Amino acid sequence: MDSSLSLPGQEWPRLEPGWVWLCGAGPGDPGLLTLHALNALRQADVVIYDALVQEAILDWAPQAEHIYAGKRGGKPSAKQRDISLRLVDLAKAGKRVLRLKGGDPFVFGRGGEEAQTLVQHDVPVRIIPGISAGIGGLAYAGIPVTHRDVNQSVTFVTGHDQSGNTPQSLNWKAISQGSQVLVIYMGMKHIAQIASQLLDAGRAKDEPVAIVTSATTGAQQVLETTLSMMAADIAAAGLAPPAIICVGRSVLMRQVLDWQGMAAGETPRNLDPLGRGRPAESA
Ligand code: SAH
Repeated sequence: MDSSLSLPGQEWPRLEPGWVWLCGAGPGDPGLLTLHALNALRQADVVIYDALVQEAILDWAPQAEHIYAGKRGGKPSAKQRDISLRLVDLAKAGKRVLRLKGGDPFVFGRGGEEAQTLVQHDVPVRIIPGISAGIGGLAYAGIPVTHRDVNQSVTFVTGHDQSGNTPQSLNWKAISQGSQVLVIYMGMKHIAQIASQLLDAGRAKDEPVAIVTSATTGAQQVLETTLSMMAADIAAAGLAPPAIICVGRSVLMRQVLDWQGMAAGETPRNLDPLGRGRPAESA
């Protein structure tokens, strides 16, 4: 039976036995899946999914076996090896394997490692990108990751490395000075340390910061604070991971672009938070 997607004018790839498709599931809201992801869900024999993948998405693969491969940051990397080898075994057993990962598989998701192991074992792979939490999650909070009046670059940073520590290899000074907007993944555990490193590197105490937890899900929370206050404010609010932390003036745009708040009947706090005039005036 051909269970692949059907839309006019478009041929959808077949997920063949023995293949692994390494696929991003987006940040949470099932509607943020790509059509390639949906096509994969419909054909898979096995779906191996991570902690950050919403269970509702699995309902779209009722024919498949669902295997949970969740692990949260800081766990030993040996387990990553187990997951990769499990994918190899399933593919070699002739399954149509869908490896579903939160956000984009190649953004801080170890997707590169998994794909490399597959290729090393002669398993054919297809990569399906996804919407990364650091872009789509911020958009759901009304924060544009770039904005002409704020930043011409953006830096995506991970708050901890494989050992669970703040990455030693990161040059926080260079990062601070090199990019107006920083988007920090996995930053909650070492939030105080990250804040002090950024302040030491010369970022302003009152620089706007937003923390978006469980972005794009029904449990999404957004905290607006400043660099010097963020660690204390996160603790006071009792915020829990997963969280994206955005440092920079683009956070101010939420005052006019909190579209979820507006949909719920709130009025924008400030129509011109950057003080640049309306676009028509400043063009
Ligand atoms: N590949 C993923 C990132 C995996 S690392 C992506 O592209 O989004 C895991 C980290 O991603 C979490 O610790 C958190 O910082 C971030 N993250 C993933 N989903 C999130 C969500 N729904 N809300 C907030 N942060 C999220």
